[in-house]
Amino acid sequence: MARRKSKLFINNVDGFSTLPLDVLCEIFSSLLPRDLLHLARTNKALRSFVLNRSNSMIWKAAFANNALAKGPPRCPPYMSEPAWAHVAFDNFCEGCQENLRVDPNVDMVWWEFGGRYCSDCVPTLMTIVIPAKLKRLYPADTIPERVLPRIGRDAPGEFRWYNLVSDQTKLLQQLSATRSAARRREITLKRIQDTALIQQHSMRCRYWAASKIDDYQDDILRRKQAKANKDGDLLRAKAEQVAKRLRARGWGDEDWMVNGMLARHLQYYPDFENSKSLTARLSREFDDRLVARLTADRKKYLQQEGGSDNA
Ligand SMILES: [Zn+2]
Repeated sequence: MARRKSKLFINNVDGFSTLPLDVLCEIFSSLLPRDLLHLARTNKALRSFVLNRSNSMIWKAAFANNALAKGPPRCPPYMSEPAWAHVAFDNFCEGCQENLRVDPNVDMVWWEFGGRYCSDCVPTLMTIVIPAKLKRLYPADTIPERVLPRIGRDAPGEFRWYNLVSDQTKLLQQLSATRSAARRREITLKRIQDTALIQQHSMRCRYWAASKIDDYQDDILRRKQAKANKDGDLLRAKAEQVAKRLRARGWGDEDWMVNGMLARHLQYYPDFENSKSLTARLSREFDDRLVARLTADRKKYLQQEGGSDNA
């Protein structure tokens, strides 16, 4: 029965209406914003259902789940939830729509500009210059750098502030079309306020992204450490096993060995770690090589000792 419902759900969105409301709520209350984005791309009917403004509660629920899962900061007041989900979760370039490779060591998002940009699109869609004709339209007491969202990045060789060309073009059109200086002041002040909100929220997103990268790198380090510990344990166990066989052949702990211990000393032989578990015949050969090496080492040590005694 449940299976049939889920079929209706996917193939025919009208089937939604046949599902009890509490079942629908149950399904949607467990989704994350990323799930809703994917759902919205499944087909037209699902898209209009998910993006319907009157269904905004499903986005609210998804972002609440996202917060529990330590996802990106919540939706800023100047954006709709679906638009924010796109900024925070989609992985394609705003310019060319190309799918971008995800690198968990890097914050890929140009948060202030609402998304990701590939290296080909950055030079065409962004600029480090504020055009003089735009500056001329600002009220005289305006600090031009504060008007539009901007991002500081290390360009090759030096640090630079970037603006979106489309932001500049849009504002230029808006201000050029306005005769009244008072109205231009109003528009500019409003833009400065909006920009301040964008910069603030983006800063929070950058902190979040940086902490996520830290978590990822810590996790990698922990895994490496755990593996190293495990490898160390295996190596020690193997050394004990081999030392036991060598004891049967008359070898034991001697002062000249590493830490004065046979098992410890064996671990320092270069090919000891890489040797696989051996058959009885091969382990005999392996042990013979170790005995030859131990004998040579002991001889060298005794010669050195004898030499220093004579000096
Ligand atoms: Zn691109």
